[in-house]
Amino acid sequence: MPPATDRRRFVTATLALAGAACANERRSEPETAMPSSTSASSAPQAVLFVGHGSPMNAIEDNPWSRAFRALGRELARPKAILSISAHWFVRGSFVTAQERPETIHDFGGFPQALFDLQYPAPGAPELARRVAELSGGEVLRASDDWGLDHGTWSVLQPLFPAADVPVVQLSLDAQLSPAEHLLLAQRLAPLSAEGVLVLGSGNLVHNLRDAFGRMGTGDTSVPQWAAAFARDLAKACAQHDLEFVTRALDSADGRASHPTPEHYLPVVYALGAARKGAEVFVVDADGAVRVEGARENGDVREGVFPG
Ligand code: ZN
Repeated sequence: MPPATDRRRFVTATLALAGAACANERRSEPETAMPSSTSASSAPQAVLFVGHGSPMNAIEDNPWSRAFRALGRELARPKAILSISAHWFVRGSFVTAQERPETIHDFGGFPQALFDLQYPAPGAPELARRVAELSGGEVLRASDDWGLDHGTWSVLQPLFPAADVPVVQLSLDAQLSPAEHLLLAQRLAPLSAEGVLVLGSGNLVHNLRDAFGRMGTGDTSVPQWAAAFARDLAKACAQHDLEFVTRALDSADGRASHPTPEHYLPVVYALGAARKGAEVFVVDADGAVRVEGARENGDVREGVFPG
C-alpha cells in the first residue's frame, strides 16, 4: 500500500448497518494558508464519514473499534481535526474555540467507565478562526459552551488513541437544508490540503424508534428500507454523488432511515469537503479493511490490508 501522502482516497467503512466512513483526500489549493502551526501541511488529509454507532465502541474491543483502529493506522497524521458530529445539532453554526475542550458525556444509561473516559485532545483556536474565515465569517461563531461530544471522542479514541491531535467541533445548523449544508461544507474544502482532517460523524441509518421496537420483539432482521438506503448512500459516497446526498432524505427509504436529519448531515460535510475519486475501502464487521476499487487514473487495486 503506498503512503497516504501519495494517494487520494475515498474510504467507505461499512460496519453492519450502523455506519460508514468515507475518506477522500483533496488536493485543491487553499486561497489563504492557515496561520500558525496548523498551516501548510505536507500531507493532504483524508475526509471521513464515520458511523459512530454506540459510544461503547470507545472502550470495547469489538468489530467497530477494531475497524476504527485499523483506519487510524491507515491515515496520515493530521495537524488538526475538524469534527462535525450529529450530537451538536442546534440553531446556528458554531465552532469550538477553547484551548482545552471538555469531554462531554452526552448520554445516559451507560457504564460508569464510559462516563469516566476523558479524551484530552487540545483545541485549535487558530483552526476555529480559519473555519470562520472560510465560511465567510458571518455564519460561524466561536462557542465556549460546547466541547467534544461522544460523536467525536468515541470515534477519535480508537482512531487516535494518544489524543494528541488538536480537535475543533463544528455544529450542525438545524435551520439549513442539506443543500445549504453542502454549500457550507464546500467552503471548507481547502482545509484538507492544509493538513486538517475533516471528520463527519453520524450514521448511514439512524432510526432508533424502529430499532428499539424490533429489539423489543426479538426481531434481529434488517428492514429492507434500511439495507437499501445504506447501500445507496455508501454507493453515493464512493461515486461522490452530491446530487444524491442533497436529495436522499426526500425518498421514502431516506425518511425511514433518518426520521430526523442530524445523523445524516455529517455525510454531506464529508462529501462537500472532499473531491471526487480515488480508492474505495470497505471496513467489514470483522475489522478487515478491503480495497474495493479505485476511481482515478485507472489505478485499480484489490486486496486486504492488516486490520
Ligand atoms: Zn449518535
